[in-house]
Amino acid sequence: MKEWHNKYNSFNSMKALVHVPYWKKAYDTNTIAPPLFVSVDPSAICQLNCKHCNAAEALQTKQGMMSKETVDQLIQVFKNQWFTASICIGGGGEPLTNDNTYYLIDQLKENNIQIAFVTNGVKLNKNIETILKCDYLGISVDCATSKTFSVVKGVNEDIFNTVIRNISNITSKGLEICYKYLLLPTNYNEIYDAIKLAKNIGCDLFHMRPGSDPWFDRNMIRFNENIIKIVEEQINRARSDFEDDNFKIFSVVNKFSENWSPKLTFNKCYTCLTTCYISFDGTIGLCCDRRGDNSIELGNISESNIWGSEKHKNIHNSIDVKQCPRCTFSSVNEIYENVIIKDRMFYNFF
Ligand code: SF4
Ligand code: SF4
Repeated sequence: MKEWHNKYNSFNSMKALVHVPYWKKAYDTNTIAPPLFVSVDPSAICQLNCKHCNAAEALQTKQGMMSKETVDQLIQVFKNQWFTASICIGGGGEPLTNDNTYYLIDQLKENNIQIAFVTNGVKLNKNIETILKCDYLGISVDCATSKTFSVVKGVNEDIFNTVIRNISNITSKGLEICYKYLLLPTNYNEIYDAIKLAKNIGCDLFHMRPGSDPWFDRNMIRFNENIIKIVEEQINRARSDFEDDNFKIFSVVNKFSENWSPKLTFNKCYTCLTTCYISFDGTIGLCCDRRGDNSIELGNISESNIWGSEKHKNIHNSIDVKQCPRCTFSSVNEIYENVIIKDRMFYNFF
């Protein structure tokens, strides 16, 4: 399936190549470079009940909200120790259930750290001027109708209208807005209608990717040939009907096999040396696809020199990628193996 028209777009994972010299320097000296990009989860609470949620395990066992003190601690680490350039706010819970998320955005902005923000959109109706400080906003809608919303999100149908109204109120204000669609066996029939709706309410981007099993349950999501054919037909039709200079459609399937199941294209996890997520209480986890798995938790943001420690190297060595779910950062692992370690691209010869 054609994924996009222009390869210079924010969903092209090959952009990780830009960071090769930075990571290679650390690899050559057997050290771990500070993470330039980090995910922050300000809340481990969510109003929705998505069956596919990869944080469901964590949301059940450890609920809570990030305090202003933890935000201040994070900013100190990002600014003075890690020199972090960008943050994705989202993750294991809904960030807008915590009012301190607005404080987090303000603090990141004041410190010139770029912000991507991902939300379910239910509470996207206040402090809009703060949300507009972000560099990118993605709303996980995953459907085109209230009926499917209820099936996919496990809640009352009415909430769909709230989400769509909230999105309509924040579009056309200068911030790039993406209608996100996680493709599932329960919503594949209405992707054309969702693209139409996204354009009608003023979104700039539509992003679809196949859903995949969470790390703690490997028997949930399967696609067959028929579903793939129906989705491709809808995307092609929507491209010709709706795509223009102001509205772009992305159907990103490169991290999946032909039948859209996860594919393993690397031997070892190097992502855990490059990025992490931080949960509401300051816990540093080394894999955003395994939120709630304490075998990949490094420690707490309050511990000095934990990043790059022997413990960090031990976790990197202990990860068996054959046990992993679909990997968000598979391209980082591929680039590490093929470009940094084997120099298969002869990248000095550009
Ligand atoms: S909205 Fe996100 S965090 Fe909430 S249940 Fe759904 S997938 Fe999980
Ligand atoms: S899914 Fe596996 S390979 Fe990918 S970042 Fe997580 S631990 Fe590493």
